[in-house]
Amino acid sequence: MRARHWSENVGTRRLYYDDAFEKEFTARVMHCEVLPPDVKSGITGKVWGLILDRTAFYPTSGGQPHDLGKIGDANVLDVRDEGDEILHLVDRKPADPEVNGCVNWPRRFDHMQQHTGQHLLSAMFQERFGLPTVSFHLGGEICTIDLRGVEPTAEFLEGAERAANQIVFEDRPVNVRYGTADEFAKLGVRKEVEREGILRAIEIEAADLQPCGGTHVKRTGQIGLVLVRRCSKVRQDWRVEFVCGRRAERFARQDFQAVRRTAEELGCAPEDVVSAASRALAERDAHFKNVRGMQQRLAEAEAKLALQSTKAGKNGFRVVPRVFEGVPADYLGFFATEIAKSEKVVALLAAAEGGHLLFAQHPSAGKDMSAVLKQVLEKVGGKGGGTRDFARGKLVKQDHAQRALEAALSLL
Ligand SMILES: [Zn+2]
Repeated sequence: MRARHWSENVGTRRLYYDDAFEKEFTARVMHCEVLPPDVKSGITGKVWGLILDRTAFYPTSGGQPHDLGKIGDANVLDVRDEGDEILHLVDRKPADPEVNGCVNWPRRFDHMQQHTGQHLLSAMFQERFGLPTVSFHLGGEICTIDLRGVEPTAEFLEGAERAANQIVFEDRPVNVRYGTADEFAKLGVRKEVEREGILRAIEIEAADLQPCGGTHVKRTGQIGLVLVRRCSKVRQDWRVEFVCGRRAERFARQDFQAVRRTAEELGCAPEDVVSAASRALAERDAHFKNVRGMQQRLAEAEAKLALQSTKAGKNGFRVVPRVFEGVPADYLGFFATEIAKSEKVVALLAAAEGGHLLFAQHPSAGKDMSAVLKQVLEKVGGKGGGTRDFARGKLVKQDHAQRALEAALSLL
């Protein structure tokens, strides 16, 4: 327990409960002490814990992050809900017990837009599609709700988004209501609570009633816009990403810029991006097939030439050793397959770039390519394997291709 310097403290009065738009306030410091560094929260310097008699600073709770701002000259680093009191973590001790507080308003208003948008969107998923929200997270970039039930189809996602935005356009009042759990249950609260006493709930007129201690806008129009994005499965639930207000504007702008830049790359109008991309990919695939066909024909022709100019050694079989420059690994395969069609021939091939090895033979050559490769790799360094007639490997150092072939030749 922290030692208190006052005796009849009844907790911090939460100004945001009554007016979420209160950005500046005066208060009295009730308690101030140096706190140990809190590395887990990213606070490494010296910090003071401040308790005020009243505050407009919202503490991290209910899925909504804490506010930032100033108390006197001090910067607010974190705000924590400690039951009856709210603890402000600040970077210096206020000089005077009477302080002015100032909430970082762009940050708070953003949270209010996201949070109210979440109430609305959750209500639409529940009402239209029977999907309850089981949790909510307001992130620095993206907000999420986790829905339980059947997979929300694209139609569900768009339907909930459109219904939520309809209520945004109607600019309905968002009211704070107080009552008991029983009273709220009679009014059709979206999420039942088991807590005793007087509860606080947020009502979006004729759309939603939800117990909540967070901060919200005054009218749905202030949400600006609800923009639903991806949906993915997380454990047994469906996580729906969304953004509201200024964030929706930013995301829409970024999306358009991405489409516009892609269109520029593809040389088409933004509205033709999908068909132009499909066409470009189809062309790429056709070219790839074409090039592969040509490589095969070229490798076969090269292999035939190589065979013609290779004479049998005294042990009665022909060996074609070759280090290729500037060809893909597939080229070795085409070349080797052609060579191995002729009787009593062995191909010892390497690709200089990439360090690929391919040893192949016609069965009548009577060697063991897999065994030869294994010994070569032990000596030169690399990985690979294969069969008696066909073995592939990859060198650790690609400039050892020549050495590898020399080692293989000595083993035949
Ligand atoms: Zn709320």
